[in-house]
Amino acid sequence: MQTGPRRLELRELPLPTVGDEDALLRIEACGICGSDAEQYAGVLPVRFPLVPGHEPLGVIAAIGDRAARRWGVDVGDRVAVEALIPCGHCRACLDGRYSICRGRGGMFGHGYVPLAQPPGLWGAYADYMYLDAFSIVHRMRADVPAAVAVMFNPLGAGFRWAVELPRTGPGDTVLVLGPGQRGLASVIAARAAGADMIIVTGLARDARKLALARELGADHVIDVEHEDARVRVKELTGGRGADVVVEVTANSPEPVAEALHHVAPGGRIVLAGVKGLRPVPDFVSDLAVLKEVTLIGAFGVTRAAYEAAIRLIESGRVPLAKLHTHDFRLDQAEVAIQTLAGEVPGDASIHSCLVP
Ligand SMILES: [Zn+2]
Ligand SMILES: [Zn+2]
Repeated sequence: MQTGPRRLELRELPLPTVGDEDALLRIEACGICGSDAEQYAGVLPVRFPLVPGHEPLGVIAAIGDRAARRWGVDVGDRVAVEALIPCGHCRACLDGRYSICRGRGGMFGHGYVPLAQPPGLWGAYADYMYLDAFSIVHRMRADVPAAVAVMFNPLGAGFRWAVELPRTGPGDTVLVLGPGQRGLASVIAARAAGADMIIVTGLARDARKLALARELGADHVIDVEHEDARVRVKELTGGRGADVVVEVTANSPEPVAEALHHVAPGGRIVLAGVKGLRPVPDFVSDLAVLKEVTLIGAFGVTRAAYEAAIRLIESGRVPLAKLHTHDFRLDQAEVAIQTLAGEVPGDASIHSCLVP
């Protein structure tokens, strides 16, 4: 339970009773991502206390008849759960854009709804989690190790941000700015989509992640602290620039401005890394005009990308276990978040999860 900024504690809550339209999930694993660190620090617009955890993988422990029919799952089935819980009725939902649904007020989703909203067990930093009538679940094969199966979330982001939104396909050069778990997921997704060349940038301290990017399908990596990234991207692309630039660095606004220099004429830039609502210095908008660049903001992940991610996970084609660095118990949630945020000296996480 998060009770305030940088305050997590263990608490016992009663298990909710399940009605006709909802269900109860026994959590197998909950992935941890950059936004957990922001939520922990208190910078996300959520109300405390709440149960955090928005990347749930688990087994249906109880389910109402109507929910079982609507979702096509039953007790004992393993499912991946989407973070967002849409309302189903607002304009965004009716337009098929439920990632921007605000119909239930603010950020409504697993890991974000306060305890005050019954039945309270909305997050996946827990043994059990409540599934609302509008929660979205996807079946996941039971024989995939939980630490890999739970990567449906970052990998789904890779498919939506690096492939679906910029319509990446064969012949495209994809430049991924930032080699964190979303950056690596973007490499895997772009490779799966048939991208022609994939380039990944990172800092000197990202050497291990950049090496992993190579193993997962990147053709070239650039250490921006020791190389001139603009010059390198030009060289590698025959002077044209990248058809698709995916910006997934954490907190630093500079790569957003750099993306306009890296992108090819007619290219697409996907902005998915948040910068604490700070402006971007040296953003030369004329470059977007002169090159007819399409700028795409990406928030969250939706059905098609999650399903592409789950199929790839189940296929076993990609050595995803190499991304997984840590399993933490529930009572280690704070250390887990601090490790991901790079606050634990001598320990670095790429993908980690809580295992209750
Ligand atoms: Zn996440
Ligand atoms: Zn809605």
